Amino acid sequence: MKQVRTRFAPSPTGYLHIGGVRTALFCWLYARKYNGQYILRIEDTDRERSTQAATDAIIDGLAWLGLDADEGPFFQSQRFDRYREVAQQLLEAGHAYHCYCTKEELEAIREQQQKNGEKPRYNRCCRELTTPKHKNVKPVLRFKTPVDGEVIIDDLVHGRIKVSNQELDDFIILRSDNTPTYNFTVVVDDADMEITHVIRGDDHINNTPKQIHIFNALGVNIPKFAHLPMINGQDGRKLSKRHGAVSVLEYEQEGYLPEALLNYLARLGWSHGDQELFTIEEMIEYFDITNVNKSSASFDVDKLQWTNQHHLKKADSSRLAKLIAKRLSNQNINIDTNVNLNNVVDVYREKVKTLKELADSISYLFMDKVVYDPQSADKFLNAESVTTLESAREKLLSHEQWQVEPLGQMIKSLVKQTGLKFPLVAQPLRVALTGSTNSPSIDQTLWLVGKDKSLQRLSDAIDHINK
Ligand code: GLU
Repeated sequence: MKQVRTRFAPSPTGYLHIGGVRTALFCWLYARKYNGQYILRIEDTDRERSTQAATDAIIDGLAWLGLDADEGPFFQSQRFDRYREVAQQLLEAGHAYHCYCTKEELEAIREQQQKNGEKPRYNRCCRELTTPKHKNVKPVLRFKTPVDGEVIIDDLVHGRIKVSNQELDDFIILRSDNTPTYNFTVVVDDADMEITHVIRGDDHINNTPKQIHIFNALGVNIPKFAHLPMINGQDGRKLSKRHGAVSVLEYEQEGYLPEALLNYLARLGWSHGDQELFTIEEMIEYFDITNVNKSSASFDVDKLQWTNQHHLKKADSSRLAKLIAKRLSNQNINIDTNVNLNNVVDVYREKVKTLKELADSISYLFMDKVVYDPQSADKFLNAESVTTLESAREKLLSHEQWQVEPLGQMIKSLVKQTGLKFPLVAQPLRVALTGSTNSPSIDQTLWLVGKDKSLQRLSDAIDHINK
């Protein structure tokens, strides 16, 4: 078999969102699975709508996801000479022709067709010209689409699709300002880059027959096509900002792990039995384009969070600790070197869905003074709890083994000593240590806060009550 070569070819006219990422992922997985090559191509021929910011966001987003390209990024804007060269070739070989029709003439043709109840399209009136129709009109170059017959696409996802050539137009490949059009540049590039599998969104199915004709005219191999169904919001509508069609980098900010996002997107429209959780290696091993569903998939944030939660549980503690440290420092939170972030991550990762949630839950660890949630303070830092807090402080002062288990024993003996119910001991301590009643078990909380800080915070809470 020929070596597999796939490409992801985004247009930098907007951010890279979930749909694009899934296309990139499938291209990448397919190349990795067959030990082939995955190429990144930036389709920036639309100079007006393409921006550097969008290009950067695409490249940064793919880097964050770890979808590394074997070749590229190639930029179409740097290949205009090549497109003109191939256009000339098509012209000389009789596969393309100059069209001199003016806007007004084209408009008149369209009106006539509409009157006759025909489908509006170019009527090919310049196709057989031997001399220019107008002297001072800069012509466009049109492709000579075969008039009869049909195009067959054996799509790897959708199966056989037949399109009659009568449905097609003599479409423009070079505009009058000599700039090439999408359907043409894509084919030149896919041919030059020896792409074997074009995997892209099924919003491009309509373009494929035209592209196949150009491949044929160039006398080059036609790649295989796999058109991926769209991703919709859960309401069945096209994915929009409201549904999560935001830049992929926002998912990083929201605290998703790249492997979780990829896992979730892999499952969106593709399955391997009823397995939900995959490592990257498993995705590569099991992925096959033929297992992709034909119908559109819906984006479900809850399932993404669920997937993220599982990947958080499995991730290496020191990696998560580094990611958390970065988030905290971005929020200008000074990371107290007495706090062991690996331990923090290990305690919290079971309880959160995202790294953002984790970072937000632990800010109390780094404060000089705890900020009390007013309701929790009213309920638990009062005259009734002050003796409990004093006894706890007393016990902790001489407590040597600052480990979860011995701290748990200490709390048990405190409960016994006070004769109170467990929550009436644990809750005031929680509020004193963290500011609220949401925290892991009290022994774990003490462990994470550390001895010096715990003593300080108990004193502060006692002062707060006595004030
Ligand atoms: N540049 C096109 C887009 O962003 C994709 C072209 C292709 O994959 O053939 O929609």
